[in-house]
Amino acid sequence: MTKMFCFQCEQTAGGKGCTNKGVCGKIPEVANKHDALTCLLIDLAKAADGKGLSGKAHDLIVQSLFATVTNVNFDERRIEDFIQLVESEKALIGCTEKTPADFLWSGDSDIVSLRSTLLLGLRGMSAYAWHAKILGKEDKEVTSWFVKGLKSLGEEHTVDEWLALIMEFGQINLKCMALLDEANTSAYGHPEPSKVSTLIEKGPFIVISGHDLHDLELLLEQTRETGVNVYTHGEMLPAHGYPKLKKYPHLKGNFGTAWQNQQAEFDNVPAAFLFNTNCIMSQKPSYQNRVFTTDIVGFPGLTHIPSTNGTKDFSPVIEKALELGGYSEDTLHTGVNGGTNLLTGFARNTVLSVADKVVDAVKSGAIKHFFLVGGCDGARPGRNYYTDFVLKTPADSVILTLACGKYRFNDLDLGNIGGLPRIMDMGQCNDAYSAIQVAVALADVFKCSVNDLPLTLVLSWYEQKAVCILLTLLSLGIKNIYIGPSLPAFLSPNVLGVLVDKFGLTPISTPEGDLKAILG
Ligand code: SF4
Repeated sequence: MTKMFCFQCEQTAGGKGCTNKGVCGKIPEVANKHDALTCLLIDLAKAADGKGLSGKAHDLIVQSLFATVTNVNFDERRIEDFIQLVESEKALIGCTEKTPADFLWSGDSDIVSLRSTLLLGLRGMSAYAWHAKILGKEDKEVTSWFVKGLKSLGEEHTVDEWLALIMEFGQINLKCMALLDEANTSAYGHPEPSKVSTLIEKGPFIVISGHDLHDLELLLEQTRETGVNVYTHGEMLPAHGYPKLKKYPHLKGNFGTAWQNQQAEFDNVPAAFLFNTNCIMSQKPSYQNRVFTTDIVGFPGLTHIPSTNGTKDFSPVIEKALELGGYSEDTLHTGVNGGTNLLTGFARNTVLSVADKVVDAVKSGAIKHFFLVGGCDGARPGRNYYTDFVLKTPADSVILTLACGKYRFNDLDLGNIGGLPRIMDMGQCNDAYSAIQVAVALADVFKCSVNDLPLTLVLSWYEQKAVCILLTLLSLGIKNIYIGPSLPAFLSPNVLGVLVDKFGLTPISTPEGDLKAILG
């Protein structure tokens, strides 16, 4: 008998599903509570139909879904708290329905696959919706679609109906990403090209990991004139491009590489670490006492910094950094390929501000192809493909990138084309919105469809935010996307067949083979 079931991420056991314990470290008790919480949300959504829900209940739905995303919350007690809160909301609207917890993964394999695809997309979108909400932005259509989507999960649909729901979801997620883009840029300005050092200066420091820029701002305010420097980690790197964040002189640089290297990179480092979204991993004893969580993130045994009336007190994190004292002299860390500077800040505003240069370069033949090589990084072998792919791209091509998959190559200097660097980091995973805007604008200039541009998307996926982005790209009709390093276990052969036939979704093979197929 299996103790749990989860196949939501790329590193799932045997490429099929985690059944005893998650490869990520998720224990069965937590996995089963994630399922129970999800089923309660389905009940709540079904009962809310026609009655409406309070703003508090909508927030709870988004937070609860976010808590079930890979590498976010491993704390059984915190998941139980969410369960109790959802039970209370159910009671408030007189909902007595109870979907059995094994419902999610039971039944016809194609239906389970389609249901899972929508559920995992909703989980991914919840992270974006929550980050936007923290910055005071909400979109009624997005908010209400969480209820529609959850309700749909609990209903029966034909295959065609499921596919239509999934495409509708992709369009809603585009709205959600636009909302977060607006939230981030209205709060912190439009990202600007920025060079980020990997040198760690002597003295106390805090490393902040995750996506939530508001937490970084609060931390920077609270560390002013304390002598504590702040470094970004993982998906926080693009924060250096935002004018209102880069103005803080003690936001010094970036520490480490992508999430899956944290156990090696944090080992014995004299700093405090703060996780504000995914991806937290179990800690080695050498640094466990200096890791803090906040917001939806949870891990048993770690100190959690709660939010009170919209603010947070990061004193315990700052005191830990001061107690540890940091390095006694400047210490140089490097990127994966030995580089010591990273470039970021090439979001839509920057790229579109030089659109005429880009268009001229395409017309003159200086730029022959664009690649979007991005997505999540991960621990499983096979991800060197992305480094090799980028290294083998011809000198007359441009590589747009985003999310933490870029750490495989973002310390490389591949030169410039027409004054622009060949590798341009557009930001976090949600900045896929920026990439879409650039592609649509180029298609407009060249009077063609995005599919007719000399542009190929080569994506790496790991968790559920990659799922919601992929569904958005497919809902926009973008074809021939390359995806790897392996295909999602939740796609049944028949569902995968539909995606291959309809959209030309292509598993990666070898960099040489794929480049030949793309460029001819
Ligand atoms: Fe397994 Fe991934 Fe689920 Fe963790 S999140 S239990 S590794 S499938």
